[in-house]
Amino acid sequence: MIMVSPPGAGKGTHSRWLTEQTGAVHISSGDLLRAEVARRSPLGLQVAAYTARGDLVPDELILSILLPAVEAAARDSGGFVLDGFPRTMPQALRAAELGAELALTSDGVIYLTAPEDELVSRVLDRARRDGRDDDTPQVIRHRLAVFARETAPLVDYYRGRGILLELSTDRPEADVQADLRHWLETRGLLPPAAGRPEAAQHAVPLNHLLPPATGRSAHLQGGPGFGG
Ligand code: ADP
Repeated sequence: MIMVSPPGAGKGTHSRWLTEQTGAVHISSGDLLRAEVARRSPLGLQVAAYTARGDLVPDELILSILLPAVEAAARDSGGFVLDGFPRTMPQALRAAELGAELALTSDGVIYLTAPEDELVSRVLDRARRDGRDDDTPQVIRHRLAVFARETAPLVDYYRGRGILLELSTDRPEADVQADLRHWLETRGLLPPAAGRPEAAQHAVPLNHLLPPATGRSAHLQGGPGFGG
């Protein structure tokens, strides 16, 4: 699964929830970059110059950090949630190529949204809690602009391919999770909850869902390609 969303929409929270529910491995590009910065490695110092300004790190840099984690997860796990990658069209095309090389498929792309003021206020709350240096008001506005310019085109690209699930997170977390659960059930990634009526009666509009998986498993093998 691929998670795409502007800062503050709940990408990290809902990615973690998805991994807890499905047993998929969580691969967060932001966490990997912050770990590199914390190590103060030469790569980390390069990364920090971009992340502190709220700019995306160059594609080669993110790929050099992310690829080993993706390759390990593809080898050792039944599936993974990519949280924060891809984030540019070149990255999306690289992800599709990588999927072909590693014989991966995607179950879909989840796009979380919320109104801009809500995004800003959530990120500022997070700043008070976690003290991320890219969570200042100016940097957040810049990250939102970068999202609109670099990442929003991916949303249209994946929507055009019929693999996008768009969910508002401007509502209680449990409601978002209910929609995600329904989507997972529809994809065969979770068994239907006991005593529930048939999945088709739930709230997620069907035109937001992926076409049924073709191929050997509902997770990462066979099927129509890794987001490409
Ligand atoms: P958020 O969604 O709150 O912006 P992330 O933790 O996903 O936070 O990312 C933090 C920062 O790491 C981004 O602002 C960007 O500088 C960098 N980053 C993360 N993922 C990528 C990526 N795929 N490509 C380039 N830069 C990235």
